[in-house]
Amino acid sequence: AAKEAGRDQFVCYDPQLRTRHLAQARMVDRLREALDEDQFSVFYQPVVDLQTGRWVGVEALARWESFSPDQFIPAAEDSGLIVALGTWVLRQACRDAAAWHRDHGTRVAVNVSVHQLREANFTVVVESALADSGLPPSALTLEITESVLLGTGMPRAITHLAELRRAGVRVAIDDFGTGFSSLAYLQELPIDTIKIDRAFVPCAQPGDARQFALVRTIVQLARGFRLGTVVEGIETSWQSRVLRLLGCQLGQGYYYSKPIPAAAMTAELAPQSAPA
Ligand code: C2E
Ligand code: MG
Ligand code: MG
Ligand code: MG
Repeated sequence: AAKEAGRDQFVCYDPQLRTRHLAQARMVDRLREALDEDQFSVFYQPVVDLQTGRWVGVEALARWESFSPDQFIPAAEDSGLIVALGTWVLRQACRDAAAWHRDHGTRVAVNVSVHQLREANFTVVVESALADSGLPPSALTLEITESVLLGTGMPRAITHLAELRRAGVRVAIDDFGTGFSSLAYLQELPIDTIKIDRAFVPCAQPGDARQFALVRTIVQLARGFRLGTVVEGIETSWQSRVLRLLGCQLGQGYYYSKPIPAAAMTAELAPQSAPA
């Protein structure tokens, strides 16, 4: 152990960097254990129709003990464990959502990592999650970020997404407008929906004209491409009103509900009427 520590010290002489490396390595070990032992769960945040207030969908969000996804998702991505974790979340979300969809017409959105889209069998993984749960393909949305456009995996990712869309699955661009990609990809990527990042949600009352202009422009862009819009991070009634007036269709945020466990979601959806 002394020899190992000595070697580490030689390689990583920045003690802060060394601490971070160790923390990351420990996190990856614990993630692997947690996957083996079924320690993950999925929480759900409602996606709300801004006109009617109706909960029309949910987003599935991975949860693990007291860690934030912003801590463990990057570690899972770096180590490749995100493929197994992402598959587990997808299968669990399809199982949970099958009953909600049957009883209330609720749709479900699942976050998908670029690593999953690079796997040769991704289409099969999604199709079997749907078949095993009984959730219709048209009730599932896969959320991807602009990062699928980077690196060498892009043609395969597009093939997967195009094939799944032919089966009825929808595709959303998550955190739209926060990446570094050019807008040109909107012509090429097989997508249905833009999720407008919470960075674009107007924050000041009475509000800065430039904030409104940004949202309005993104909404017009989406319309031009016949894409749906979901706004993330709505925290106040004022924001929900403004975003509705700016033409956004759907929204999520703490104003409506934080992400909640599946059983709580079942209880929340119960009073809602059957699908029209
Ligand atoms: P995301 O997909 O953009 O999810 C939205 C995040 O915003 C969630 O954070 C949600 O809890 C948070 N949020 C919702 N409403 C509000 C609000 O009104 N205000 C604020 N400040 N935040 C709000 P969460 O659950 O911590 O997840 C963070 C990110 O981790 C997600 O961002 C997603 O990129 C990633 N993630 C979570 N679960 C998974 C997963 O199963 N697979 C993959 N690949 N990534 C995941
Ligand atoms: Mg998302
Ligand atoms: Mg997002
Ligand atoms: Mg995000």
